[in-house]
Amino acid sequence: MKYVYNFGDGKADGKADMKNLLGGKGANLAEMNLLNIPVPPGFTLTTEVCTEYYKSDKTFPESLNQEAKDSLSIVENIMGAKFGDESNPLLLSVRSGARQSMPGMMETVLNVGLTSKTIPGLITKTNNPRFVYDAYRRLITMYADVVMEKAGEIEPKEGEGIRQKLEHHLTSYKKKHSLQNDTDLSEDDWIIIINVFKKEIKVTLGKDFPDDHYSQLWGGIEAVFKSWNGGRAISYRKIENIPEEWGTAVNVQTMVFGNTGEESATGVAFTRNPATGENKFFGEWLTNAQGEDVVAGLRTPNPLNKDTKTEGTKELPSLEESMPSIYNELYDIRTRLEKHYSDMQDIEFTIQDGKLWMLQTRSGKRTGVAAIKIAVDMVNEKMIDKKTGLMRVNPNQLDELLHPMLDTESEHKATILARGLPAGPGGAKGKAVFTADDAELWHSKGEKVILIREETSPEDVHGMHAAEAILTARGGMTSHAALVARGWGKCCIVGCNELNISTVEKEVRVGDTVIKEGEWITLNGTLGNVYMGQLNLIPSDPDTNLEYKKLMEWADETRKLKIRTNAESPDDAKQAIKFGAEGIGLCRTEHMFFDDTRILAMRKMILAENENDRRSAVMGLLPFQKEDFKGILKTMEGKPVTIRLLDPPLHEFITLNEEQINELASSLGIDRTIVVQRINSLHELNPMLGHRGCRLGIAYPEITEMQARAILEATAELTKEGINILPEIMIPLVGTVTEYTNQESIIRKVAEDIEKQYSLTLKYLVGTMIELPRACLTADEIAQHAEFFSFGTNDLTQTTYGFSRDDIGSFLPDYLDRNILSEDPFQSLDVNGVGKLVSMAVKLGRDINSSLKIGICGEHGGDPNSIHFCKNNGLDYVSCSPYRVPIARLSAAQAELT
Ligand code: PEP
Ligand code: MG
Repeated sequence: MKYVYNFGDGKADGKADMKNLLGGKGANLAEMNLLNIPVPPGFTLTTEVCTEYYKSDKTFPESLNQEAKDSLSIVENIMGAKFGDESNPLLLSVRSGARQSMPGMMETVLNVGLTSKTIPGLITKTNNPRFVYDAYRRLITMYADVVMEKAGEIEPKEGEGIRQKLEHHLTSYKKKHSLQNDTDLSEDDWIIIINVFKKEIKVTLGKDFPDDHYSQLWGGIEAVFKSWNGGRAISYRKIENIPEEWGTAVNVQTMVFGNTGEESATGVAFTRNPATGENKFFGEWLTNAQGEDVVAGLRTPNPLNKDTKTEGTKELPSLEESMPSIYNELYDIRTRLEKHYSDMQDIEFTIQDGKLWMLQTRSGKRTGVAAIKIAVDMVNEKMIDKKTGLMRVNPNQLDELLHPMLDTESEHKATILARGLPAGPGGAKGKAVFTADDAELWHSKGEKVILIREETSPEDVHGMHAAEAILTARGGMTSHAALVARGWGKCCIVGCNELNISTVEKEVRVGDTVIKEGEWITLNGTLGNVYMGQLNLIPSDPDTNLEYKKLMEWADETRKLKIRTNAESPDDAKQAIKFGAEGIGLCRTEHMFFDDTRILAMRKMILAENENDRRSAVMGLLPFQKEDFKGILKTMEGKPVTIRLLDPPLHEFITLNEEQINELASSLGIDRTIVVQRINSLHELNPMLGHRGCRLGIAYPEITEMQARAILEATAELTKEGINILPEIMIPLVGTVTEYTNQESIIRKVAEDIEKQYSLTLKYLVGTMIELPRACLTADEIAQHAEFFSFGTNDLTQTTYGFSRDDIGSFLPDYLDRNILSEDPFQSLDVNGVGKLVSMAVKLGRDINSSLKIGICGEHGGDPNSIHFCKNNGLDYVSCSPYRVPIARLSAAQAELT
């Protein structure tokens, strides 16, 4: 097996489509070589090395050492320099590169190969001792942190890691000698600091920093492979659903330096604006710096070109102005890369002594707004076809367009507390918290929080994920916080310099204003404004976004699945129609009973001793229900509306306090002890498996009768008004065909009465939820009677797994941590288990009745993966909450295209 792939000098063993083996970075470095784009030569150790390493108890395959040696000599030949050589040393970088980019989640070691033997040679070669010692201290810091501490599995106490200790020495040294920036330190300063660093490493880690180039290289390689299983990488993989078995590749590459002087620079750029999608080359750069300086946000970076300067950066020099010919070369590469990959690229470059080198290209992370604009623009520019355009937008990203924005009026009235860079669009409000752990903790208690940090690091991802928004004092548009937030479509402001944050005091000061932990703040991530307190948020109106409308038009042309919504009020229904819903797939009627005026009648009905009393209580609800249904049916004119008969366990209606018991007793004219007795007799140990669903209508047929009457009288009256009404009456929790026919006959009888009463023929369907395994197994019997099936995958998941849908939270985190389940089956359909029942029921049902209408109305109806399953299994529609309708529309289109 080949474990090492070379690239350099216009040649490469790999290419772009070998991401699984070479990782994204390695595959694209190879591809750029093939495109004759200047890339520092190097080689990639494949993801298979990673898998082998973990399989064989953290040892490398035998042939790896020799392969790597051979590859290294190819690189040495291209560069005319030798690794570890005394007079002409080659320095290397060691970087991770998984199939899918995991920004900052794994480790990197730069400047590998600097030793007491090679340093003098490099000084003679570069004639720049300051630069060499600066590079050496960077190597020492990274190596001690990444290889000796992290990969050595040493777990220091919070704030006492080796990196922090070394940085602390550097800061005290600078303070003592009144030096502001790292660039103010001379060669002699660095020599002193290097000695302090080495002593600290020996004391803290009990080992010397290695002075042998090969030890450095293999230490670095192993540490990067180990970082695949580091805490950060694992949390990120969970959030992004990246399988553990993928592994990472490792890229060993010739070092190029952006910090050899003023003719050198480094930068990060996007071929189009990643926040808005605008077709403008967008990026940031720094002179005399190494790449980490741009991303870490330690210095405020300069804008790439005149075009993308903002109010805050207009005075800063752009690359376009400072190094015009290099800018032109970079611009040309931008155009070639975008054309070649036909997608927006995120690129990293370094300029060493006036020569441009490309260090990376990858498909750029972007906000949802940008994803839509780029996809639609590229179709219009004929760079990609419509099908590719549709596939380019992750349906969940649409969520961002549907997210709230700050209400401009309340924003005009408010005073801006501070301004930063608008890194992630939209508005958000939350309580201030200052550590990622606090963000997670508060969020778990149901609080909305905004995470405020000096800058974020990959260690903060869990808190960033839990927060409504992220606010940082430092960093640019390509800083860690900005990249991660944009990837998630989260509101984010970075580089807000006015913030004076104290993590110890848990407060932030802006001038004289202090915001303490737990106080509300509001962010406008589109403008970069920070406000005290809570401002109004208004739901966004995606209809004003023309590219979104275009994309949705293409999605609608492509998809065959219909999209309905779960809604129980005319307002929800209107919202859903605005988002493109083509009907209601589930109108749950139980919430209609909780209104003050109705609940009493309901309770009377439940506690009634005989049919007469029960009937009169239930019929008291008829006028209310009829109005409810009229409202919804009218709103949905011309579109099908599935109304489900009463479903929940009765105890939900009779969980009463003392006062309510007394009130009920007096209105029933009975003694309170009888009420208490009756309530106790209805107590169930397992209400979810108890007296609910069609079992209610069977025990109390008056309920079914009243609801059928309310629906069909509403239908008759609206029909008389000339409105086209399409009700579908749905019987819940059917497990036997006899349950179904029992309820169906009540409905049909009511319908006959009403047809006579109103002298018309009603247009309506009767069907059932399929939400119990037995209903799936006997779907053929049920289909002989039912006119439609709607899969209630919430209950079907509950009853198939035997997991209580309300209590899964107590053990699900353990299941996910231990990989017993890869995801929550209540969120994404368990295709292998629950899905098998669904497929079986569809087949059994359609074999009996080929025109049986089939949909899904469990939560899975709004989940992109589950929607693919529904399409593949021949369902007619999916039904989801109004805000997920656009997501379902796009997912359904994508399901047709894959
Ligand atoms: C279901 O069980 O999937 C369903 C839609 O019904 P409910 O969630 O109301 O039980
Ligand atoms: Mg259900």
